[in-house]
Amino acid sequence: MTAVPLGLPAVPGPHAARPDVPGLVDRFGRVATDLRVSLTDRCNLRCTYCMPAEGLDWMPGGEMLTDDELNRLIRIAVVRLGVTNVRFTGGEPTLRKGIERIIAAAAALTPRPRISMTTNGIGLARRAEALAAAGLDRINVSLDTVRRDRYAEITRRDRLSDVLEGLAGAQEAGLTPVKVNAVLLRGVNDDEAVPLLRFCLDHGYHLRFIEQMPLDPQHGWDRAAMVTADEILATLGERFALSPSTAPRGAAPAERWLVDGGPADVGVIGSVTKPFCGDCDRTRLTADGALRSCLFSQTETDLRAPLRAGADDAEIAEMWRSAMWAKLAGHTINEAGFAQPLRPMSAIGG
Ligand code: SAM
Repeated sequence: MTAVPLGLPAVPGPHAARPDVPGLVDRFGRVATDLRVSLTDRCNLRCTYCMPAEGLDWMPGGEMLTDDELNRLIRIAVVRLGVTNVRFTGGEPTLRKGIERIIAAAAALTPRPRISMTTNGIGLARRAEALAAAGLDRINVSLDTVRRDRYAEITRRDRLSDVLEGLAGAQEAGLTPVKVNAVLLRGVNDDEAVPLLRFCLDHGYHLRFIEQMPLDPQHGWDRAAMVTADEILATLGERFALSPSTAPRGAAPAERWLVDGGPADVGVIGSVTKPFCGDCDRTRLTADGALRSCLFSQTETDLRAPLRAGADDAEIAEMWRSAMWAKLAGHTINEAGFAQPLRPMSAIGG
């Protein structure tokens, strides 16, 4: 019998008592230091695998955290809970009015966190410099195809040129390394692994492929149709010499491969077929103030209500610690009885 690593954490066990430490520890020995903050559930694209053409029922304005509330929660995470990396996402984070002020508030914290953003890149050509000046360090741009017709088909918007300009603008503004995230969909863009990598190599962008996960509101995810990490690697291996990168992976989800001897590399994130839950260091905050320990959590901790009811920073921090202590060992996509979370990716923050 061959042992198959499940990517699940092993220590110290589900019945341990929470130690009296300031950080976001869980019962499996992990420490969350990477905060994903969703700034909005809205998006200016309608990627077929992420949102229906007509959009979703957006969060009502009054339910969204205000800038002050967001800034306060980020401050608590960084100053009291040991968060060292803050990534803004959504929905489309650049749709949040005043995002530069939110970034600047995070950048003013001591210790200063590393600040990054995941965006579709639209409007970035115009905004990259201001975002960098506010304190943004790095950027991930989502791009699933380099073909204009296909981009319009997948995103239901003819905006590829905006994204390409946005990528160049980010590079120029020093939001480096500029990373590109791509999802391959069978029968749609599964022939683009090589063109996407060539494009990124030509421009000095760092490409990461991500396996499609069951997080779509239509519940249309189909394991059999998923383009797997192994398939992607096999396709790339026909055109490029790939060798495992020796750079430490840490909690990074991507397995990285040097391309043609390096230094350029390509990452493949096998969220479904090669789960990395055992190394997960994430904690997530939705735009309406729900704390999630995992993309796939079935439960959330509402921080907005206690914030608005007058809880002090120490109380909020304690709620955050308790929620993370209860983090499960791993997602259960590969187990019988798996159920998708109620919120889709765009409302959690991808
Ligand atoms: N609007 C921003 C963007 O486009 O990057 C941030 C939010 S978007 C939900 C973040 C990333 O999630 C995108 O790269 C998108 O391709 C990816 N994504 C959406 N649904 C997904 C799914 N079911 N599985 C894997 N990735 C998904």
